[in-house]
Amino acid sequence: MKEDIRGLLPNELEDFVIVNGHKRFRAKQVFSWLYKDIKSFRDMTNVPKALISILEENFKIGSLTLADRQISKMDGTQKFLFELDDGNQIESVFMKYKYGNTVCISTQAGCRMGCKFCASGLLGLSRNLTASEILSQVIVISKITGEKISNIVLMGTGEPLDNYVNVSKFLRIIHNPDGYNLSMRSITISTCGLVDKFDILSNDFPQINVAISLHAATDQKRNQIMPINKKFPISSVIDKAREYVKKTGRRISFEYTLVKGFNDDKKDMDALANLLKDLNCHVNLIPLNEVSQTGLITSGRKRAEECMEILTKKGINATIRRQLGADIDGACGQLRLKQGVK
Ligand code: SAH
Repeated sequence: MKEDIRGLLPNELEDFVIVNGHKRFRAKQVFSWLYKDIKSFRDMTNVPKALISILEENFKIGSLTLADRQISKMDGTQKFLFELDDGNQIESVFMKYKYGNTVCISTQAGCRMGCKFCASGLLGLSRNLTASEILSQVIVISKITGEKISNIVLMGTGEPLDNYVNVSKFLRIIHNPDGYNLSMRSITISTCGLVDKFDILSNDFPQINVAISLHAATDQKRNQIMPINKKFPISSVIDKAREYVKKTGRRISFEYTLVKGFNDDKKDMDALANLLKDLNCHVNLIPLNEVSQTGLITSGRKRAEECMEILTKKGINATIRRQLGADIDGACGQLRLKQGVK
């Protein structure tokens, strides 16, 4: 099968163009076309025919097939289900915020982290997405909605740090000035805490925003809902977070999903505040999006507000995640799950 040209780094494309007897600047031209959701190399109107033929012989232009789209009547949030070439399906979400349009994209088809509250992990991991498949979600959504994307969150299906090779390639491509030219400060990577990948991440992308899914303040509780905690317990996650803040000078975020009667009482908030004291961080409280298969119940908005108040009083910076698209298939991963696909 032909290689997908959207997965090529700019320097790789340059090498290809030069080896095939064309001038270096042609690579830039080709590269910038790849962000315009073109279907064929022939759409690259400023590229010589001879180069187009060579590109056609060697590459395909990867895209995604739209399988389902839901648009919220409440806030304009849009959820997309895309089908990949091999029949796998992935989800992405488009959201409108005051500070710009954000897309939430997937990095894997499925997930192997097995967090108990999450819809994405219920069917396990099917495979890693390629850099091109990650990138195409942004390009295709921008094309379908006709909107410019100014922020990207890697918070869809999958664990980004479990697919670091392709995720890092995607980040380099989307950041490139000849392509989408998105600043790292506009990108957030969310992880369940793969502590062993933090050094490489902070070396490669010191400017990227990092969010760690914590969801509990003690190992006894976190073990029950996040199997990864047995490998990387809370102390190792917090130590790494401190190191990360020191090294990059950036604030770090923690996501904390509130599950009724499990991690949402005063003692839980006190333990959380104690754990995070003296750390330059921000806590994002997320009332659980209920997934019927898990049996877990949400704490709800009111309790989330009370939790926020407890944290704030203890000097911890905390906000509640705005719930967008409440009228369309709830939690992340549910669109895909509904189709019963891997
Ligand atoms: N694997 C990464 C990114 C994908 S999940 C991670 O763990 O961070 C993105 C965020 O959504 C995580 O904080 C995750 O814990 C949270 N999440 C997953 N299912 C949820 C649900 N049903 N309700 C609320 N938050 C959920």
